[in-house]
Amino acid sequence: MPESCLYPLIFTDLDGTLLDHNSYSAKPADLLIRRIIGQSIGSVIPITSKTRAELRSLQNSIAIGETISVTENGSVIYVPPGYSLGQTSDPQVTLLGSGYSEILDRIAGLPKLLRQHIRGFADMSGAEVSEATGLGIDESVLAKQREASEPFLWSGSDEALEELRSIMAEANIRIQRGGRFYHFTGHATKEQAMARIKTSFVEQKPDCEVISIALGDGPNDLGMIEAADFGTIMPNPAGVTIGSSKPHVRTAAAPGPEGWVLAISELFAELGIILSES
Ligand SMILES: [Mg+2]
Repeated sequence: MPESCLYPLIFTDLDGTLLDHNSYSAKPADLLIRRIIGQSIGSVIPITSKTRAELRSLQNSIAIGETISVTENGSVIYVPPGYSLGQTSDPQVTLLGSGYSEILDRIAGLPKLLRQHIRGFADMSGAEVSEATGLGIDESVLAKQREASEPFLWSGSDEALEELRSIMAEANIRIQRGGRFYHFTGHATKEQAMARIKTSFVEQKPDCEVISIALGDGPNDLGMIEAADFGTIMPNPAGVTIGSSKPHVRTAAAPGPEGWVLAISELFAELGIILSES
């Protein structure tokens, strides 16, 4: 194996990581991303809680363009035409965990006493999602285009929530707490999706050492950051910065896309990965 053949897979969260918390811009990272992709040095793979529809609408404004992506917190892996995850039989969209219609069927089948306390995205119009989330109407419509998870508001007691949790667990659907919303998801995580993608790159690039780099700022990123070969926590000036005691996890020197560039540049320098100027 030639010493110089290192292929980094950069798994990056979007909000508060590659995208600035306030402006939602990734601009300071555009040049570096274009160099990495243009010089085929590695791959940059968005891994986000957003839906695929939301990510698609963002792709005009971030330099990554259409690429392999992971959406809905690890539940959906998308491989666009021209890319491969190894097996030719790979579907373009792979769902880990449970599909959306299965989740909705399980919700519909719940006892009325529990069902009446659930108000999911499927129960709401775009305007209602907009009001509940603070997203614009257009973004809310895209956020409603779900494939493998359902955010919901809960108006019942803690006791009833525990009952709901155990009924849904029998169907392999778990409940995760976000901010204001709870989420029904299958058993999929960002780190599972990352591992799956890395395995297929290892098979496709037998002459290279494929390494995973993961960057994120939220509690739902921590498992992925710790599971990666090189994990970077992004400071979160708007909330609580997550922490890790793992020696291979570092914290970026600045939040958002500026910190993203500093973290990747530092890692590349340590690994001896050289980008040319153009
Ligand atoms: Mg984030």
